[in-house]
Amino acid sequence: MRRAVFLDRDGTLNVEKGYIRDVDALELYPGAAQAVRQLNDAGMPAILVTNQTGAARGYYTIEHVHGLNRRVAELLMQEAGARLDAVYFCPHYKDGIVPEFTRECDCRKPAPGMILQAARDFPDIDLAASFVVGDKATDITFARNAGCRGLLVRTGYGEQVLAGEYQILDVQPEKACADIVEAVAYILSQPAGS
Ligand SMILES: [Mg+2]
Ligand SMILES: [Zn+2]
Repeated sequence: MRRAVFLDRDGTLNVEKGYIRDVDALELYPGAAQAVRQLNDAGMPAILVTNQTGAARGYYTIEHVHGLNRRVAELLMQEAGARLDAVYFCPHYKDGIVPEFTRECDCRKPAPGMILQAARDFPDIDLAASFVVGDKATDITFARNAGCRGLLVRTGYGEQVLAGEYQILDVQPEKACADIVEAVAYILSQPAGS
């Protein structure tokens, strides 16, 4: 069985800028690509799991969401030869305005749908030994709901979450890390089977 790392996108891999309408505005945090490369080199699947409601809200098209995800992958590759093993996103939003994506679903974080789908696609992933890295309280609840270990980064909304100014941490993270670089260092320091 393998340990995987489920990575949030906005505020974790790329700089939190709200809804990104221009693909060229997307930028990775310093060291993020190198951190993902370390996961690649360690043989740990790096899997993107992201809520993307922009299309449901009518801010942009679903093609644009795909374009943003592609841009993240492109920057990871350019900056460090890093790759994502899979990308899952939830386009749904119950209060959206675009009918196709406006509904309740079981894949919007903190519901565990995206990780459960990944576990079906990669049956050798040991969820209990796998990690979620994200900047919101919902990412930590998502980890708990999927039976994974949750690490909060202080980038994006993370600092506000820790200060009690954004969302409520109903589940405590295993560790609060400065950024994805520190989170990956922590993950790689954990012995397999711990
Ligand atoms: Mg985020
Ligand atoms: Zn969904």
